[in-house]
Amino acid sequence: MTSVIDNLQQVRSRIASACAAAGRPVQAITLLAVSKTFGPEAVRAAVAAGQTAFGENYVQEALDKIAALADLRAQLQWHLIGPLQSNKTRPVAEAFDWVHSVDRLKIAQRLSEQRPATLAPLQLCLQVNISGEASKSGLAPAEVPAVARAVAGLPRITLRGLMAIPEPAPHAAAQRAPHRALRELMAALGDQGLVLDTLSMGMSADLEAAIAEGATIVRVGTAIFGGRPQARA
Ligand SMILES: *Cc1c(COP(=O)(O)O)cnc(C)c1O
Repeated sequence: MTSVIDNLQQVRSRIASACAAAGRPVQAITLLAVSKTFGPEAVRAAVAAGQTAFGENYVQEALDKIAALADLRAQLQWHLIGPLQSNKTRPVAEAFDWVHSVDRLKIAQRLSEQRPATLAPLQLCLQVNISGEASKSGLAPAEVPAVARAVAGLPRITLRGLMAIPEPAPHAAAQRAPHRALRELMAALGDQGLVLDTLSMGMSADLEAAIAEGATIVRVGTAIFGGRPQARA
C-alpha cells in the first residue's frame, strides 16, 4: 500500500525537476490528481497533503464522489477528462469546474446552454487526437481551428486550450514529438487571434516530456494513487 502523501511529494519533485530543466517556473504547472476508480477517502488523503485539483473520467462515478465530498467543494476544482456524451452534459455543466475532453461543437453548445448562471463559466479544453490513432477520441488537428473559433464565441463557458493523450512512447525524444505538435497547434490558434493559455498534456509516464514542451496542466493518476484495476484502466 503506497502512501498518497509520499507519492504526491515525489510527483511534485518530478515536476520541479522538469521545470528546472526546461527553464520554466513551477507555478506555470497545475498538477491535476486523476482520482478515477479511487474512492472519496483517497481524495481526502490527497487534500490533506495540499492537493486541490482532481480529474475524473466517468461521469456517474465523479458525480457520486463530488457529492460524497460536498463538505470540501469550495476548496476543490473538479475536472472531467474522460469521454462525454451529449445526454450527460447537464449534470457535468452543473457539477464540474473544467471539461478537458470536448471533441465536438455540439457538446460545447450544450454545456454552454446548461451551465447555471449562478456558477463561474465552465472552463473548457478541446481534446485533440494528436497521434492520429484510429481508436482514440478527439478532434483531428485540421478540424481544431474552426471548432475552436465557434466554441470561443459561446456564453457561460471559457475556452482555455487544448488537451491530448498521445500514443505511449518508450523514450523522451519520442514522447516529446506529439506534445510539441499540440503546443504548435495552440500557437497557430493564437496567431489567429484566439487567447488560450492551457495545454493539458502529460501523465504519470511522460510528464517530463510534456513539461519540456510547454504543458500547463499535467494529469497524473497512477503515480499518485497507485495502479488501477485493468478493466477500467
Ligand atoms: C487515466 C488518465 C490519466 C492519468 O493516467 P496515469 O497514467 O494513471 O497518470 C490522465 N489523463 C486521462 C485522460 C486519463 O484517462
